[in-house]
Amino acid sequence: MKCRKCGREASVKLKHYNLSLCEEHFYEFFEGRVKKAINKFKMFSKGDRIIVAVSGGKDSMVAWYILHRLGYNPDALFIRLGSGKVIDETQEMLKSFAESIGSRLVVEDATNYLYGLSTFEAARILRKPACSFCGMVKRYLLNKVAFEKGYDVLVTGHNLDDEASQLLGNILHWQKGYILRNWPVLEKTHEKLVKKAKPLVLNYEDDIKLYAKMRGIPFLSEVCPFSFGATSKVYKKLLEELESEQRGVVLSFYLGYLREKKEFFKTDDKAVKLNSCKVCGYPTTSEMCYFCRSRESLKKRLERKKGASQGVIR
Ligand SMILES: [Zn+2]
Ligand SMILES: [Zn+2]
Repeated sequence: MKCRKCGREASVKLKHYNLSLCEEHFYEFFEGRVKKAINKFKMFSKGDRIIVAVSGGKDSMVAWYILHRLGYNPDALFIRLGSGKVIDETQEMLKSFAESIGSRLVVEDATNYLYGLSTFEAARILRKPACSFCGMVKRYLLNKVAFEKGYDVLVTGHNLDDEASQLLGNILHWQKGYILRNWPVLEKTHEKLVKKAKPLVLNYEDDIKLYAKMRGIPFLSEVCPFSFGATSKVYKKLLEELESEQRGVVLSFYLGYLREKKEFFKTDDKAVKLNSCKVCGYPTTSEMCYFCRSRESLKKRLERKKGASQGVIR
C-alpha cells in the first residue's frame, strides 16, 4: 500500500475516499479540509477572538487542536452539566491539554443556574427529555459565556456525519427553518448572539478519530451516557449503512446541500425574527427564553416539593 501523494509506504487507508496516504500526507489532507471549510464559509480570521466548545469528545478536542495548530490561538469552554468523578476527570484532562498546547480553558458550571441540580436531574423534575433539555442548557450557556467574555466566534466540533444526519432528519420532516440553519456558519443575528462556526463539517467522523489517535490527542470515547435514544443517532446509523453501500454518499449529500441551498430554499428573513428575553436579554422567538422559562418552572416545582415534605413533618 503506497501513499498516493508521494509513493512512500502508506500508513492509513481512508475508506470514504478510497485513498491511501502516509502519515504526513494524511495530516495535510485532513487539515486541508478544515482550512477549506474555514475559508470557504468565512468562519473567522486570525484577528478574531475564538473560543471552542469542548466536551472532552474527539470532535471538539480535534477542533481545538487544529485551530491552535493553524495559528488561530483559540481558548476553550467547558460546561459542567453536573458533578461527580467523570466530570471532574474530564475537566482535569481538558486542563492539562490546555497547558500542553499553551491555550486557556474557561469553565462554566450549569448547576449554578439549576438550583444545584445537574441537567439530568433538572430534566427529570421538569419531565423533559434529558437529551434535548441538556442540549438547550449547553447551547444557552456556551453563547452566554462567549458573549460575556467578548469572543467573536464560538466554534463547535460538529463533523460531516453530524451535519449530514441532522440534515437528513430535517429534510424527512421538511423543517425549513432547521434546514436553513444547518449551515456551517451562523452569523450574529442578535446583539447578544455570538457567531457560530463548525470547521469540521467537511471531515468524516472516522477520519477525525484516526487523526486524534495518530496525533496523540486525548479524548473520551462516550461523552454523554444519556444520548442512546437520540433520534439523530438513528439517521446517523442509516447514513452509515448507505455509506457502506455507496462510498462517499454522505459527503456528496452534504456538499449538494451546500451547493444548492440558495436555489432550493429561499431565506425568509421575517421568519427568523428574534426578540430579547424579558428576563435575561438573550435571543428568543417568544417573550421569555426557554432557559428562563425552565428555570422558573424548576423553581416552582422545587418549592412545591419542599412545601410538601415540610407538610409531612408537621
Ligand atoms: Zn505521502
Ligand atoms: Zn432568558
